[in-house]
Amino acid sequence: MRDEAVSDETPICSAKACRVAAVWVLAWNNPKIHTPERRKTWLACEEHREHLSQFLGVRGFLKDVVPLTEWEAGPGSSAPERS
Ligand SMILES: [Zn+2]
Repeated sequence: MRDEAVSDETPICSAKACRVAAVWVLAWNNPKIHTPERRKTWLACEEHREHLSQFLGVRGFLKDVVPLTEWEAGPGSSAPERS
């Protein structure tokens, strides 16, 4: 069975049962099981960004929310600050 709606190139939102293309990357870390440098990532569509970041935020896991385009453009680097 093939899913023709999405290609491997299209990141999909991590929210449960959501099949919308993701536009945000949520970088998080669980200090109980991950080393501090480690980053787990969730993908989120526009609709679920808040829901997912809240979920991680209340647990103190959320480190960063970055637009997917930026995340892909500069892996591992945080957005440069303009002076
Ligand atoms: Zn979604």
